Amino acid sequence: MRVDLHTHSSWSDGTDPVEGLLMRAREEGVDVVGLTDHDTTAGWADAARAVERTGVRVVPGIEVTTLGPRHSLHVLALLVDPSPDTPLAQMLSGSRSSRDTRARRMVERLAVDFPITWDDVQAQRATHDTTVGRPHIADALVAAGVVPSRDAAFAGPLAAGGPYYVPHAAPRAADAVRAITAAGGVAVLAHPSARSTTGLAEELVEELVEAGLAGLEVDHREHDDATRVQLRRLSRRHGLLVTGGSDYHGSGKINRLGENLTQPDVLEAIVSRSTSGTEVLTP
Ligand code: AMP
Ligand code: FE
Ligand code: FE
Ligand code: ZN
Repeated sequence: MRVDLHTHSSWSDGTDPVEGLLMRAREEGVDVVGLTDHDTTAGWADAARAVERTGVRVVPGIEVTTLGPRHSLHVLALLVDPSPDTPLAQMLSGSRSSRDTRARRMVERLAVDFPITWDDVQAQRATHDTTVGRPHIADALVAAGVVPSRDAAFAGPLAAGGPYYVPHAAPRAADAVRAITAAGGVAVLAHPSARSTTGLAEELVEELVEAGLAGLEVDHREHDDATRVQLRRLSRRHGLLVTGGSDYHGSGKINRLGENLTQPDVLEAIVSRSTSGTEVLTP
């Protein structure tokens, strides 16, 4: 059984609609997909239908954007209660609305130097509920001929710390882990060492474990072999599950479905740890 616990659809910054994503998974021989769009559960309803059509199982999830002590941290919330009245749901809707304001501000700054409008960015979102992010601004810049690719947009005008960059509000990492756990979900720190030069601080892991953290996404494209060895050791020390995922974004990134996987017994442990009533979607 091949389990890929980290993917994005066009409900956030992936380019495939949910059903297309699952069709692709079937082609690639992936049996179980974690649907983890940024800061939203909006794609789960599509997943229920797409599972019937494709036979690929889905672990309903979210990739929650949070603030760590030094930079932003992403937390996968797997098999969580999606109901709108949990503190987690309130955090997510706060993040989405701040993402909206932030994207508009970035477009205002960009519009001084480049031919781009808010409508151009809107045209790149699949729906009005699609979680907006820099990738949609990147797509608008590509469409306007300013840059050749998302990658070039991120390396250029959209770079964090650059003159056009604006941050958005997000919950603190430990608060998000507590809210995910309180909503019956299983919290896994996504790509914890990606783009970090200093590695994952032991104190941070301790704080997050205290808050309910269940696992680390060790097997991810942005972790080299030495990092994976370190993270596996850290996981053992703290009794954390080890997961893997592709972080597939359709044609928005080079990541291929199934390029990193989660062991089936780890999926079983995640299922038994969840207390939300949300189940793996099975045809
Ligand atoms: P944001 O959350 O709006 O700041 O945008 C960050 C998102 O952009 C992440 O979820 C990544 O998936 C995506 N991203 C970051 N760097 C790149 C890149 N070089 N090419 C394509 N997508 C990227
Ligand atoms: Fe993304
Ligand atoms: Fe991420
Ligand atoms: Zn991701």
